[in-house]
Amino acid sequence: PRWVYLFGADRTDGDAGMKTLLGGKGANLAEMANLGLPVPPGFTISTDVCTAYYEAGRKLPESLTPQVDEALETIGRIVGAKFGDTDNPLLVSVRSGARASMPGMMDTILNLGLNDETVEGLVRRSGDRRFAYDSYRRFIQMYADIVLGVDHGVFEDILETFKNLNSMQLDTELTADDWLEIIESYKAAIADAIDRPFPQDTGEQLWGAISAVFGSWQNARAKTYRFLHGIPDDWGTAVNVQAMVFGNMGETSATGVAFTRNPSTGVKEIFGEFLVNAQGEDVVAGIRTPQHLTEAARIEAGSNQPSLEALTPGMFAELVAVFDKLETRYRDMQDIEFTIQDGKLWMLQTRSGKRTLEAALRIAVEMAEEGLISREEAVMRVNAADLDQLLHPTIDPDSEKNVLTNGLPASPGAAVGEIVFHAEDAEAAKAKGIDVILVRVETSPEDIHGMHAAAGILTARGGMTSHAAVVARGMGRPCVSGASALQIDARARTLKIGSTLLKEGDVITIDGSTGQVLHGRVKMRQPEMSGNFGTLMSWADEFRRLGVRANADTPRDAEQSRIFGADGIGLCRTEHMFFEADRILAMREMICAEDEEGRRAALDRILPMQRGDFEQLFETMAGLPITIRLLDPPLHEFLPHEGSELTSVAEALDISVEKLRARVRELSEFNPMLGFRGCRIAIRYPEITEMQARAVFEAAIAAGKKTGAPVKPEIMIPLVIYRREFDILADVIRGIAREVEAEHGVSLDYEIGTMVELPRCALKADEIAAGEEGAAFFSFGTNDLTQTCLGLSRDDGGPILQTYTSAGILEMDPFVSIDVSGVGELVQIGTERGRRVKPDLKIGICGEHAGDEASIRFFHEAGLDYVSCSPYRLPVARLAAAQAAL
Ligand code: PEP
Ligand code: MG
Repeated sequence: PRWVYLFGADRTDGDAGMKTLLGGKGANLAEMANLGLPVPPGFTISTDVCTAYYEAGRKLPESLTPQVDEALETIGRIVGAKFGDTDNPLLVSVRSGARASMPGMMDTILNLGLNDETVEGLVRRSGDRRFAYDSYRRFIQMYADIVLGVDHGVFEDILETFKNLNSMQLDTELTADDWLEIIESYKAAIADAIDRPFPQDTGEQLWGAISAVFGSWQNARAKTYRFLHGIPDDWGTAVNVQAMVFGNMGETSATGVAFTRNPSTGVKEIFGEFLVNAQGEDVVAGIRTPQHLTEAARIEAGSNQPSLEALTPGMFAELVAVFDKLETRYRDMQDIEFTIQDGKLWMLQTRSGKRTLEAALRIAVEMAEEGLISREEAVMRVNAADLDQLLHPTIDPDSEKNVLTNGLPASPGAAVGEIVFHAEDAEAAKAKGIDVILVRVETSPEDIHGMHAAAGILTARGGMTSHAAVVARGMGRPCVSGASALQIDARARTLKIGSTLLKEGDVITIDGSTGQVLHGRVKMRQPEMSGNFGTLMSWADEFRRLGVRANADTPRDAEQSRIFGADGIGLCRTEHMFFEADRILAMREMICAEDEEGRRAALDRILPMQRGDFEQLFETMAGLPITIRLLDPPLHEFLPHEGSELTSVAEALDISVEKLRARVRELSEFNPMLGFRGCRIAIRYPEITEMQARAVFEAAIAAGKKTGAPVKPEIMIPLVIYRREFDILADVIRGIAREVEAEHGVSLDYEIGTMVELPRCALKADEIAAGEEGAAFFSFGTNDLTQTCLGLSRDDGGPILQTYTSAGILEMDPFVSIDVSGVGELVQIGTERGRRVKPDLKIGICGEHAGDEASIRFFHEAGLDYVSCSPYRLPVARLAAAQAAL
């Protein structure tokens, strides 16, 4: 089989469409070569090899060897060098490249092909001893760390000690002979650590590196990253072997990274950094502070280091042209790596850049307005679940602030938390529900789990493209990077900023939008919906077929729902109106009343309160549809259970404690969720329904008069299983409607429908909807439907779900994302049988699943009319509904 694909050589075998086989990096290198951009020649070993490698028990296929040898020869011929040759050695980089980009998760080895002899060839060829030995020691260090498993701290210690002994500060102060000495120390340390010398055979080096890349697909950090990002284990990675170009060949060489638009804000401007006379990971590692690409960025940052634009306008113009070409080709913001070797530009990588939500919204909207993409594509470009981040608070500009220091605004949003210094501590704190700020000198892939657990990230070193910045933006975590005034002692768990000494557990606030680090807990403000957000949502609203309503119980919820663009209210849980202090007493009186007369007396007191609530709700929604559900929860939920409370409630109700206790006992159930609740209460005490119906109708008349918009309430009966239940309560409601109509001399427009939240109801949907008098609409209550379909308590199921998730029985929490094949089938059956008897039956869903992206896709496909979710999920639901339709 064919394992190896060339790029930038005599021919290029791949293109951007071959990501599955070549990985993202390999496919994009091929594409850049196809576009005629300067790409150092190389080849990609396909993801098929990764699969074969693991199938064979971590062994590479034999037929790979001749293919790699041939490709190496081809590359060597093009660059005029030969792999392993002592006079003119070909040096290569070896990098991983999975289908989805996994920044920092997999390993990169540069300058491979150097040994004690070939390095002398490099000396002769470059005429630069210092460069050659520096390249060699970098290679030894990377190779030992990644392939031989020697801790990189060993090398840092050797270098630090050397610099200290010789009173040096910077790596650039070391001479060629100094590096030679370091190389010998490195080699000795390696021999010491692994009991054999550093491999001098370049072939052994290459195969060691290739195996290490494939092996790293299953390392712990890669697995964590895949788990967090839902990337399947069996995708595998490709390996890219590419002729080296050098950014560290003196003052006319450089290495850099760039985004074609600003990944924090989305502004259409080149955003990037470079380092003169530096190699590979130097920019990303944040060891030296990089220079800006553009003059504008330099001025804004107040840097006195010249920009590339000012340094070499010609090279800058060439880069800009390349960026334009790539953005036009990929029709998306690109994240680019390049190297300048001795005044010549080389492209090393391009990929769609990670961005903040703010940037994603702006880029999507602006690219559509520029005509680069369609509006439909723009809507598809934003991850719906990310919209949640819009609710991230920012620092209240009017709050008192004690700014400790400033760093770079690496990932927007503000965060407050206790200081921790280690990723493990961040995770432990998160488990206890404590918000933390992870404070590090710089972050590395080992810290990913801690970054995920932290509310925010603060680093002392690293630029806007450092590991911390890139990962934090991807995760939506606020981050301040490169705050150089931080003196971190991770071992002592202290942080000194100027004269302020902070310890683990002290609270700080960071502002990832401005770069500020603040003392203590600073006041936050909810963000406003930006213009781009509004534009994108209006496009989404054009494309979606599903209605998106809100679950709103109070006028305040209703207002929030309107702000977030609800098409109406799909569920008003009326019981939530009764839990307020002044109302619960009347409710308790009703529950404890001896007879119907007593109950009616209490209900008479509740009526005006309930009517007032509905009136406000109707006014707020101004003519939009509103579904009001009759009282649902078990009555004992309204009664006290504790001894002391029993006494005071009994006193307030003017009954004896014994009597109250007896009523509580009478109402208590072993299994309340399957007990005396929903329409079962209303059937036993129809006067409650009478009161609720009257409150709805009278409020509708009053609100209609006030706003001029007619109100058409939808009254919904919960927990129905039999048609007869529905009929009994519908008759009660219709009776009250006639009374109210007579009293007010008006004719009421209303509908009576049912919740579908028990399997029997879904199965008997045709019976329940049949005829003029049958249910006028359905609303699937998928919380209860999941609970009863699975026979798994929505309140007590947590530990079981955990066990099932770790045992691999469940992939998703079925109370969060709908169980499509089980509960989903009940939804399909209910929909189909309901519409069989009433083709235009209106059907919605109002369980928690209404705010979940994957569930929304299913509800769209099932042909439902609307979803109804909590107000803060509305933006997610609107966008997900549009994406489902496109
Ligand atoms: C449901 O069961 O899905 C529902 C919306 O009702 P509740 O959550 O109030 O039981
Ligand atoms: Mg329910």
